[in-house]
Amino acid sequence: MSAQVIDGKAFAADVRGRVAEHVARLKADHDLTPGLAVVLVGEDPASQVYVRSKGKMTVEVGMNSFEHKLDAGTSEKDLLELIGQLNADPSVHGILVQLPLPRHLNEDLVINSIDPAKDVDGFHISNVGLLATGQKSMVPCTPLGCLMMLRNQHGSLSGMDAVVIGRSNIVGKPMAQLLLRDSCTVTIAHSRTKDLAEVVRRADIVVAAVGRPEMVPGDWIKPGATVIDVGINRVDAPEKGEGKTRLVGDCLYESCAEVAGAITPVPGGVGPMTIACLLANTLTACCRENGLAEPEGLTA
Ligand code: NDP
Repeated sequence: MSAQVIDGKAFAADVRGRVAEHVARLKADHDLTPGLAVVLVGEDPASQVYVRSKGKMTVEVGMNSFEHKLDAGTSEKDLLELIGQLNADPSVHGILVQLPLPRHLNEDLVINSIDPAKDVDGFHISNVGLLATGQKSMVPCTPLGCLMMLRNQHGSLSGMDAVVIGRSNIVGKPMAQLLLRDSCTVTIAHSRTKDLAEVVRRADIVVAAVGRPEMVPGDWIKPGATVIDVGINRVDAPEKGEGKTRLVGDCLYESCAEVAGAITPVPGGVGPMTIACLLANTLTACCRENGLAEPEGLTA
């Protein structure tokens, strides 16, 4: 194995540390405490875990955490009413509605009812448009985390060839926009891309956001390229015992690591950066709302 392993866990801890320092300064200098409201509808176990760890980390960096747990049968009207209250609440700077929502709720309608300035997930259609046109916006957390790791690795990304595999609204497309904004030459690949291996072989930067376990082998990787593996896939692990599972990325780690210059592991790569960037976005939203300088190095 020759690649440098990009330690997302350590990097995320560093980001949270910088957020905490900035939060402490906001309190001391401006008597301001950023607040993040997380809305969870229903009892999806994975969502409950995410919401719990978001709340814990929000408090750890010194911010206020407001959790709103609604039952699975909550009506759209009631949910929109709650979002309206959070939009109007000056102690709330960031609002996150945990997805997926139960089927009877219209996700687009709900997300687009959040005040774009408080939309710390960056999914509101206004933020999507602002990002696409290169204007100041709230940026989706996972792609922001990937961008921070890439900038940390390379400094300037200008002129690099980047291939993003996956074109979802939450990862692939915003990732491509961010790389374009940093002056990469960007290719977005997807399930209809012809000869994906050849496309990926051209890339100095590969971002895999597909959701297919270990799909990208090492012989698709250009020697020395940086590989950012967003995929989180649970697969059977009979070697650990009957019924056991383990997490793998979209890249075949060992074989990619033999060729790449740097690579993120799964777990411990992109995953931890997502919550760190949620906290960074909440801080940014609070600074913008109050006309204060944005935290350096924590925005796109
Ligand atoms: P989606 O299912 O929304 O999108 C997957 C994309 O992969 C689609 O654009 C699809 O193409 C493309 N794709 C599917 N099969 C192939 C193929 N054979 N070749 C090339 N492209 C293909 O997934 P998400 O973007 O939401 O998530 C992707 C992965 O990232 C998942 O494993 C998810 O768990 C993980 N994830 C991790 C996060 C983190 O915090 N680390 C956060 C969010 C997601 P098409 O559009 O043509 O169907």
